[in-house]
Amino acid sequence: MESIVLFGPPGAGKGTQAQRITEKTGLPQVSTGDMLRAAVAAGTQTGLEAKEYMDSGKLVPDGVIIKLIVDRLMEADAKNGVMFDGFPRTIPQAEALSKITSVSHVISIEVPDAKIVERICGRFTCKACGFVYHEVFNPPRSVGKCDHCDISEFNKRADDNEETVMSRLAAYHEQTSPLAEWYMSKGILHAIDGDRDIDSITQDILKSLN
Ligand code: AMP
Repeated sequence: MESIVLFGPPGAGKGTQAQRITEKTGLPQVSTGDMLRAAVAAGTQTGLEAKEYMDSGKLVPDGVIIKLIVDRLMEADAKNGVMFDGFPRTIPQAEALSKITSVSHVISIEVPDAKIVERICGRFTCKACGFVYHEVFNPPRSVGKCDHCDISEFNKRADDNEETVMSRLAAYHEQTSPLAEWYMSKGILHAIDGDRDIDSITQDILKSLN
C-alpha cells in the first residue's frame, strides 16, 4: 500500500482526522509535530534544535525533519505505508519524501484563516492517549474525561496561543501552501471543505481514498 498525506493549515483538523482515518485504513499516523514535541520533552538533540522554532511558530529546518522521517519510515509498522500528518510542509521535504516512499493521495483540508484562531485556541489533548479535543467543537462525551481511556488529565500545547498562531499561519502561506499546486500537478490532490462538522469531513476523506 502507498502512503497518504493530510495537508492543510494549522488547526484544520489534520490530527483529529488522522486519528479517525487510521482506525479505518490501518495506516499508522506519522505526525512530525508529535514527534518533535516528544523529542523536546525527552530533551534529545533534535528536541533542542527544534524547540526555538516551534515556540516562535516557525518551521523547523528541512534537514532535521527529513532525518526524523527517514528514521521513522524504517520502522516495521511503516512498511505498508503511513498517514502523514503535518508533513511534508515545504517543497524540499516533498521532494525528499518522493525519493523514499510513494504517496497515493494528498488530502487538503481547507479552512479559512478567520476560523483558525478559535479552533487552535480551544483545543487540548488527553495526556495519556493524545486524543485531540476542542472545548466547543469536539468536547469529550463526559465532561473532563477522555472518551478513549480512563483518565481526566489533559494537555494544552505551548504553541496553541493567539500570538504563535499568526506566525504559524504565515509560515503555512509562505512555505507550505505552494505544495498544494505541486501535488495538484501530479494529479493526487483532493480538496475537502474542512469548515464543517467532523463526521462529514471524515466521510468525504474516506470517499476520496476509495
Ligand atoms: P504541528 O503539530 O504539525 O502543528 O507542528 C507544530 C510545530 O512543529 C510547527 O509549528 C513547526 O514548528 C514544527 N513542525 C512540525 N512539522 C513540521 C514540518 N514538517 N516541517 C517543519 N516544521 C515542522
